[in-house]
Amino acid sequence: MRAIIHVDMDAFYASVEQHDNPQLRGRPVMVGGGGPRGVVAAASYEARQFGVRSAMPGRVARRLCPHGMFVKARFARYREVSEQIFAIFHRHADQVEGLSLDEAYLDVSSAVASGSELESIGRALKREIGSICGLTASVGMAHNKLLAKLASDYDKPDGFVLVRPEDTRRFLDPLPVRRIPGIGPRSAERLHDAGIYTVGQLRRTAPALLEELFGRHGIDLARRAAGLDDRPVKAERIRRSISQETTFDQDHTTLGALEAVLLEQAEDLAATLARKQLFARTVTVKLRSSGFSTLTRSRSLDGHTCQSEVIAGVGLELLRSWAEWRSGFAVRLIGLGVSTLAGLGEVERIIHTLDPG
Ligand SMILES: [Mg+2]
Repeated sequence: MRAIIHVDMDAFYASVEQHDNPQLRGRPVMVGGGGPRGVVAAASYEARQFGVRSAMPGRVARRLCPHGMFVKARFARYREVSEQIFAIFHRHADQVEGLSLDEAYLDVSSAVASGSELESIGRALKREIGSICGLTASVGMAHNKLLAKLASDYDKPDGFVLVRPEDTRRFLDPLPVRRIPGIGPRSAERLHDAGIYTVGQLRRTAPALLEELFGRHGIDLARRAAGLDDRPVKAERIRRSISQETTFDQDHTTLGALEAVLLEQAEDLAATLARKQLFARTVTVKLRSSGFSTLTRSRSLDGHTCQSEVIAGVGLELLRSWAEWRSGFAVRLIGLGVSTLAGLGEVERIIHTLDPG
């Protein structure tokens, strides 16, 4: 049997601040978001009770929670604590797949022959995180990644949930469909329209209907609803860039046609960034025609972004300045890419709109 643990620190940055500064304990704490255009990087559970969430503009957070304490993010400190946590992970697992500074999948299959052995590793992780870092983590344990992640999320904060294979349906069936990874607000709405609210209802839905609603993706959703997932835990390489390319059947010779493709690519890139909780700082346009070799143009922003408008804005600017210098062109391929990627925790400034000029 596979034995997978998902560990997720509770309100990580805010908890580190509360740990390091006793005056912040028990109080609503917002990390980041103090400046006029800042964004909240993390909110303590006390702040969440007022509706404050990470990635929320600071001014909104201040309105919701006027007596909250805004503290400056100290990323070097969070990285230091993260290293301690990952050192603990590596002591217990052969494979550790970090998802962010404070979240990872651990594969402990080789050390575990039963659910209770899996539980004792989970307990040891919580205990060591508590004694070494003075922080709490939520721990989910199961026979695959999907269930381990849902389990750690189930009883947050300070959660500890084991889902045994025989408990899979009992655990999954009552959950709202929105909890299944891959079901965003729009998919959830479509399912609700079809009368499907719970994972159990989704599991019992005819595959034909799911295919009708979601195409091939419908089959994946049905698998997830049944708790099936065979993705391995692997030490993930850090992604350096994300890009989109479109090759045309015929050369495009007008700017308008190229711009339309670029806008779509920007939307796709922004969706990928949002899904992976990443932000980008550099935008690259790539062009290829039958006449000349591939050419790329890049521009870096003053901060990070995940907004399609910003990515598209820079892409269009690069495309137009390229086109300006030629009397005619015949483009066979256009690509748009983003790089210099960072997670929310590593982002100092988020660009929501592109300053003209
Ligand atoms: Mg966390």
